[in-house]
Amino acid sequence: MNNYFIILAAGSGKRFDNKKPKQYFLYKNKELFEHSIEKAIQSKLFKRIILVVDNPKKIKKKYSKNIFIIKGGRERSDSSLIALKKIKKYRPNNVLIHDAARPNFSINLLKRILKNLKNNSSAVPIFQPKDSLKYKINKQVFNLKRENSYLTQTPQGFKFYELYNLAIKEKDKFSDESSLFINFDKKIKFIKGENKNLKITFKEDIDSSKNYYGIGFDIHRLVKNKKLYLGGIKIPFHSGLKGHSDGDVILHSIIDALLGATSKKDIGTYFPNTKKFKNIRSTKILKPILHNLNKSNFFINNLDINLICEQPKVSKYRDKIINSISNLMNLDKNKINLKGKTVEKLGLIGKEKAIACEVITSVTKYD
Ligand code: ZN
Repeated sequence: MNNYFIILAAGSGKRFDNKKPKQYFLYKNKELFEHSIEKAIQSKLFKRIILVVDNPKKIKKKYSKNIFIIKGGRERSDSSLIALKKIKKYRPNNVLIHDAARPNFSINLLKRILKNLKNNSSAVPIFQPKDSLKYKINKQVFNLKRENSYLTQTPQGFKFYELYNLAIKEKDKFSDESSLFINFDKKIKFIKGENKNLKITFKEDIDSSKNYYGIGFDIHRLVKNKKLYLGGIKIPFHSGLKGHSDGDVILHSIIDALLGATSKKDIGTYFPNTKKFKNIRSTKILKPILHNLNKSNFFINNLDINLICEQPKVSKYRDKIINSISNLMNLDKNKINLKGKTVEKLGLIGKEKAIACEVITSVTKYD
């Protein structure tokens, strides 16, 4: 098992962000380059892992001494050569070179590459382009046959000395090691790449999780001689909810859930208990919240509502309340669920002194 795994993470990734290098951005709760290290460790296929970065000190304390963390060069090809020189004295059989910007390769791909290196001096995963390709020479544009075109991915595997001998000879920079092989007219064994092994180039590539969740809770005291509002409509009842506004616990919980899902604090931040908002209808509070949500390109997927009270009986008003919320929010009725929950006559809610509500929502950000 004399295999070495080189991870190149020294580039600046200017297309991604002007200030912070791409490899230090968080992706699936890890810095981008960490995915490649952890997968290589997990695979148990490598004697040594070499991480090439621009600032080794920053990362060193995080990993054991078994992982070499070295400083890269100006260009990708410089970094690659520095790493190859670093491991030469260990006389590796095989070396895999990988771009940290591809965190989604599988361990199975590593295995396939190494298997192919038994009878070949190189093994390079390729992928057929999905779009039509054109090629420009001077001012003339040519069509490229898609079925004859390849996109190369990393990791790319090589017999160490074959690659090393070419890399020290090459004077120009090269975009990946298979290009180097082609420059020297060497044969490459192409193997099937992976759909998911895409290169992260732009911010949008990393922000793939566009769904967010929010939770809201509210409780108001029940008092006589007040109208009861739930979900934006008046419900016939002997008491109403006391509050600075109309006390609509359902709408208040919905609003807090939406603010929670979009990391926008809480209802009190925007509608404090000031004179201006005294006795305001909650539908009027909901409106600007929805407007902002819409402006920031979020849409609501669903609402799940628990209304917690002994009386009134939710089953009697469920359809009406759902209808009202659906109209207020432009949300399909099928995406709104309202559950009634009693509390076995326990506590303030059980003694019909208060009504509480909790809501969970999911929202999606779109471009
Ligand atoms: Zn409230």
